[in-house]
Amino acid sequence: MPAPSLVEILIFLALLAASACGFWWRFGKVLRIIQAAKPDPGFSLQPLGKRIWDFFSEVLLQSKVIQQRPLPGIAHAFVFWGFCAFALVTLNHFATGVGFPFLSRDGWFGRIYFYLAAAFAVCVAVSISGLFIRRFFVRPIWLGGNVSWESGVIAFLIFNLMITYLATFWYDTKLIWWAHTLTLLIFMPLIPHTKHLHLVLSPVTVFLSRGGFSQIPPLAGDEDFGLDTGKDLTKIVALQAYSCVECGRCTEHCPAYNTGKVLNPKEIALGVRSYLNEFGPASDEPLLGKYISQEAAFQCTTCGACEFQCPVGVEHLPIIIGLRRGAVNTGKWEDDYGTKLFLNLEKNGNALGFSSMERQKFIDKQQFPIFDGTQEYCLWLGCMGGYDPKGREIISDFARVMDHLGATFGVLKKEKCTGDPARRLGNDLVFQQLAEQNLETLTQSKVKKIVSICPHCVRTISTDWKEYGEAPPIEHHSEFMARYKDKLPRASGPKIVYHDPCYLGRYRGIYDEPREVLALSGEVIDPPRSRERSFCCGAGGGLAFLGEETGDRVSHNRAKELVATGAEVVGAACPFCNTMFRDALSAVSQTPPKLLDIAQIAAASLPPKA
Ligand code: SF4
Ligand code: SF4
Repeated sequence: MPAPSLVEILIFLALLAASACGFWWRFGKVLRIIQAAKPDPGFSLQPLGKRIWDFFSEVLLQSKVIQQRPLPGIAHAFVFWGFCAFALVTLNHFATGVGFPFLSRDGWFGRIYFYLAAAFAVCVAVSISGLFIRRFFVRPIWLGGNVSWESGVIAFLIFNLMITYLATFWYDTKLIWWAHTLTLLIFMPLIPHTKHLHLVLSPVTVFLSRGGFSQIPPLAGDEDFGLDTGKDLTKIVALQAYSCVECGRCTEHCPAYNTGKVLNPKEIALGVRSYLNEFGPASDEPLLGKYISQEAAFQCTTCGACEFQCPVGVEHLPIIIGLRRGAVNTGKWEDDYGTKLFLNLEKNGNALGFSSMERQKFIDKQQFPIFDGTQEYCLWLGCMGGYDPKGREIISDFARVMDHLGATFGVLKKEKCTGDPARRLGNDLVFQQLAEQNLETLTQSKVKKIVSICPHCVRTISTDWKEYGEAPPIEHHSEFMARYKDKLPRASGPKIVYHDPCYLGRYRGIYDEPREVLALSGEVIDPPRSRERSFCCGAGGGLAFLGEETGDRVSHNRAKELVATGAEVVGAACPFCNTMFRDALSAVSQTPPKLLDIAQIAAASLPPKA
């Protein structure tokens, strides 16, 4: 391009200053809000290596975006990579505007770089056109009913940037230069004023995540009740709220939203953002009110599909459970079932409300040894294994498998609920009491290893209890049985459809082990939504103990999918899934498949006891 005149340089600098002011006017305000929010209790940058890896994988490689939605994902990834490639091109473009370009196509580096950027420009132009068609013509429902005009404008500007860049290879004129410049200068201030703010914030959000899936932060002391008002919103929550790109991935996979509940996880993130925009982080206005309803917060099964899917690092579960904490700890949540559940946990030490004598009778009947320090494993019964008839069957069969493998075990006399439903429903007091009592029992009994049939118990003991002490290592019975699969009998059996429990899959990353155990006894098949994308049974988050669901039942939705596979057996690996599907399978099918836990399926092939 011919060198700019002094007048052109002055016009360019004035427009650049105006564009930068437009950017900062909104971006500075967002930064001040995030900065003014309270610090996150217990936050640490360690382990740093994992953070760097997550950043490299999720931000630079866009792995999550591509894995979870391959076609639109790769289109998004090209737009992102194009932005990175264009950073140098844009700097050089601005430098050209003041008469000092530092990169030219005459040098070898400049030539290679500009051609590389041109290849990206083609990919970005194609990708952004595809994303535009998807958003405005295909219109997936989880993007929301109102398609925002700003997305269209931004798509047009990005397309124009690419075209005006490519045009310079044929017409390197001032007209093209100004067309590119004006597009850039309009685009810049639009970034913080629209959902495209995620372009700037999301790399930071991913890097500053809580460092683990569904990490519920500790309360900061006696005066911390959870997320009750704006004053309770932390910097990480505020950062995440402003990072949401409104893609609807969370909504697409949410069992509550997909069965007609009020809850929409995208609206939780956007609700926090709207609250901060209107009231700010120093407000006493309740968080559950204008933008997020209490009903929505208590419809969550804590399945974690939303948090798992989010490409920009929004952690929904600490927010949802934080809101529940705020409502429960301040007495604002009034629910008869919830009150009864908390009383049962406090009085009887189990969620089902039975006297602990009932558990003892079951132990006596089964002649389970009491753990005395000489056995290898403590077999954790859990509320379902100790009191629920079907859960008891699972425990008995798993005990037979352990006997067959020669693994010694004992059960605790004074085991109580792990506190999982209290924890997920936001009752920290009850959760703390149960965690501390159980930790004391385990220490006194000198337990070294625990095995459990319940993924909720495994998660709560291994992760949530850490706030109150270190528990012995615990594993799920699928992990235990898979380790000894060569010693378990094989049988040619029926077609088994395996349902991934949320707390075993997304929470613990265990997908192959239960399938390996089932493969010993039949042909294992997957339903359409499986592994990381498994659809919840509806029991998590304490919801198994609350009242009737509104809308369709989550368990029925899933049961229909399991029945449609044509399998003769549904293989479950969680006693809560088992409870939910017990009625659901019969409700959706005249000839429902058999419902069995993986331990029951493995035990069926064992030789009869001598
Ligand atoms: S955890 Fe599951 S139920 Fe709760 S909002 Fe997320 S996707 Fe929906
Ligand atoms: S919270 Fe995450 S997954 Fe949900 S809409 Fe926002 S960016 Fe997308």
